[in-house]
Amino acid sequence: MKYSDIFSQIYFDLENRPDLGQVASYIPELKNVDPAMFGVHLTTVDNCEYSFGDSEVKFSIQSIAKVLSLTMAYTLEGENLWKRVGVEPSGTSFNSLVQLEHNKGIPRNPLINGGALVIADVLISHFENPKQELLNFIRLVSNNESIDFCERIQASEKETGFCNAALVNLMKSYGNIENDVEEVLDFYYNLCSIEMTCKELSRTFLYLANNGIVPATQQEIICPSMSKRINAIMQLCGFYDEAGEFSFKVGLPGKSGVGGGIIAIHPHKYSIAVWSPKLNLKGNSNKGIWFLESFTSALETSIF
Ligand code: GLN
Repeated sequence: MKYSDIFSQIYFDLENRPDLGQVASYIPELKNVDPAMFGVHLTTVDNCEYSFGDSEVKFSIQSIAKVLSLTMAYTLEGENLWKRVGVEPSGTSFNSLVQLEHNKGIPRNPLINGGALVIADVLISHFENPKQELLNFIRLVSNNESIDFCERIQASEKETGFCNAALVNLMKSYGNIENDVEEVLDFYYNLCSIEMTCKELSRTFLYLANNGIVPATQQEIICPSMSKRINAIMQLCGFYDEAGEFSFKVGLPGKSGVGGGIIAIHPHKYSIAVWSPKLNLKGNSNKGIWFLESFTSALETSIF
């Protein structure tokens, strides 16, 4: 059976489940999405593509973009990066402050907000124009010049980003932020405002299924060992306090965003993007996780 046939079968099975969850509203602009949207796109390392549903509609990828900024910072800093951010699962929500004080301003991993803010600070310190450099990097990885920030989402998050401001100020007080806190927050909100379709997202993350090389262009983004490590971080930290559950149910490294997107990687095989805006209580796409659980169960393949 082709992947796209499996997609439609799983989707229609999911229709029998209760339509649980809420669209994120703490960033006001994110509320303006149709909650019924549902898209999937899978790209294999040998460039075969399969899709279903609203796979060519742009949405806010939010925290999924943290993996891309991490990749960029890792290429610049190498192993020194881990002096400022850990690689341990947090077991807490993405914007928790409690643990950060306990860990004296060193965030547990780069995929919670504290960690992504440190990565933002690293990138700002490296470049004259970090926003443009970030966009150039994402366009290179995605092999797509049309990828862009969304100013509406960026502005909306800035208006209500009090918790992120608290995180960055706390880290600054411990000496783990080099730049001006407002500059770090602005850069971080831009990062989170990146928009992609499932098709673009799946193609973008293929380098992590292919030892760090973009299959379409043969561009080496990172070496195989770095690719292994970023996959490991996604496996352990990609879903915050639901990372264990995602690993248990789906069995692939992945990353979610509060826009309802999820990317999951099967190293050496494929990358799959799913989008469904209604989130569970942990801030991860409800249907997205159900879908991926059914998908790897139907294929009977995962990394385990
Ligand atoms: N921009 C969001 C925030 O900082 C990202 C959170 C997410 O997608 N989990 O709150």
